[in-house]
Amino acid sequence: MPVIMWFRQDLRLTDNPALTVAADKGEVLPVYIRDPGEAIGSASKWWLHHSLTALAGDLGHLVLRSGDPAEILAALCAETGADSVVWNRCYDPYSIARDTALKADLKDRGISAQSYNAALLAEPWEVETKSGTPFKVYSPFWRALSAREMPEPLPRPTLSTIDAPSETLADWDLRPSQPNWAVDFQDLWTPGESGAWSKLESFLESGLAGYAALRNRPDLPNVSRLSPHLHFGEISPRQIWARTRAENTPQRKHADKFLAEIGWREFSHHLLYHFPTLPTENWKPAFNGYPWRDDHADLDAWQKGQTGYPIVDAGMRELWSTGYMHNRVRMVVGSFLIKHLRLHWKHGLAWFHDTLLDADAANNSASWQWVAGCGADAAPYFRIFNPMTQGEKFDPDGAYVRKWCPELSRLPNKVLHAPFNAPAHVLAEAGVVLGETYPKPIVDHATARAAALAGYEEIKIAS
Ligand code: FAD
Repeated sequence: MPVIMWFRQDLRLTDNPALTVAADKGEVLPVYIRDPGEAIGSASKWWLHHSLTALAGDLGHLVLRSGDPAEILAALCAETGADSVVWNRCYDPYSIARDTALKADLKDRGISAQSYNAALLAEPWEVETKSGTPFKVYSPFWRALSAREMPEPLPRPTLSTIDAPSETLADWDLRPSQPNWAVDFQDLWTPGESGAWSKLESFLESGLAGYAALRNRPDLPNVSRLSPHLHFGEISPRQIWARTRAENTPQRKHADKFLAEIGWREFSHHLLYHFPTLPTENWKPAFNGYPWRDDHADLDAWQKGQTGYPIVDAGMRELWSTGYMHNRVRMVVGSFLIKHLRLHWKHGLAWFHDTLLDADAANNSASWQWVAGCGADAAPYFRIFNPMTQGEKFDPDGAYVRKWCPELSRLPNKVLHAPFNAPAHVLAEAGVVLGETYPKPIVDHATARAAALAGYEEIKIAS
């Protein structure tokens, strides 16, 4: 009897435990279900379209259906005679609730349902403190997890597939059209399993050397840009672990640091699994009374990259154009939104969810709470990034700001990260008219910093 392989965030053929089990059992019906209950951001929809195209190409065919997964899977079993369904687990609260109910429902109908781990180095419940509780601090979590023996990635199984009537990707209308704001994405990204491997190989060849320090430089190509591939499961952390560890030893320090970042992804999933309110509630309730502002004009300026702070604006424009933003700049723009503008981190979370190609419930919510200082093992709440010094330190030649804020490109390095402090003749020589060609700062750094700290004073957070 055929087995239904329900693809979700595991859009690959290699190291895919559920697919391997299905292939071992017999003929496989591969299906992807568009579940209306899943909140997928606009940029992620673009990725999904292309990733499903790639997967269908690798498989030969992929059945697409939209609607309630329980009903669709039961209907597919009836249509094909299948009596078992397999999938790989997701760890966000919506998926856990849906899958738990669905598993029971399928079993009631006499259909076997089995799930596997394809997304993490270890299941969130497999790593625990000595007292048997979830970790709340990254370093001991990563020490415990990275000391475990890592399972070898699985090879691509030999598949014999069957087909069933399918919707088409064109029906799903996942790509933007009017306007097509994703126009630049296709030159930058290759969604799909082979695109993921090309990214990993080119990173190991030319990005890994120096990663430990250079990963903080948004002007340099020293990060992997694997995050959307990881989110959609086109490559697994087990594969990244095994391939990186096989790399030559001179890069060991950098390889360790790179894998430790994969460790932050694991930690975020661990947190989301154990604390499912992470996307919606302050992890530390002491922050609940913070005097947030509600200012649509400031939020709009932040989203559009029009704050008057070049490193912030460059980051927000990079995000809009490419669906990606460098991690260092994510921290700076996040701090600016939360602390300089005193707008709730949920606004940042929502904008990132919609515009990032790697938007991920675990990484996004854990990271926003980290920046806000209200999360587990978070940045100190009183650390307020100075956007001028962050720019000078991490974009020292100004290449990143010049790329994304071309209207500032003729400014000398000395004033590039703080044009509002530049002498009038320097601005004039560079063709910059503040308030016309580039915005004046929407807030004064020192005043905003003092107001943010006063807010923390008000709610009496113990430091
Ligand atoms: P690399 O430096 O090459 O790292 C390799 C992999 O490690 C990444 O692909 C990612 O899977 C993981 N990783 C690296 N840094 C982190 C981190 N701090 N937390 C968790 N995992 C990490 N990452 C997402 O994947 N999705 C999100 O929605 C997301 N939202 C974020 C929001 C904010 C406010 C901040 C500060 C960070 C966010 N991150 C998110 C984490 C991080 O910025 C990205 O994972 C990273 O920039 C991706 O680029 P890369 O693949 O080149 O990273």
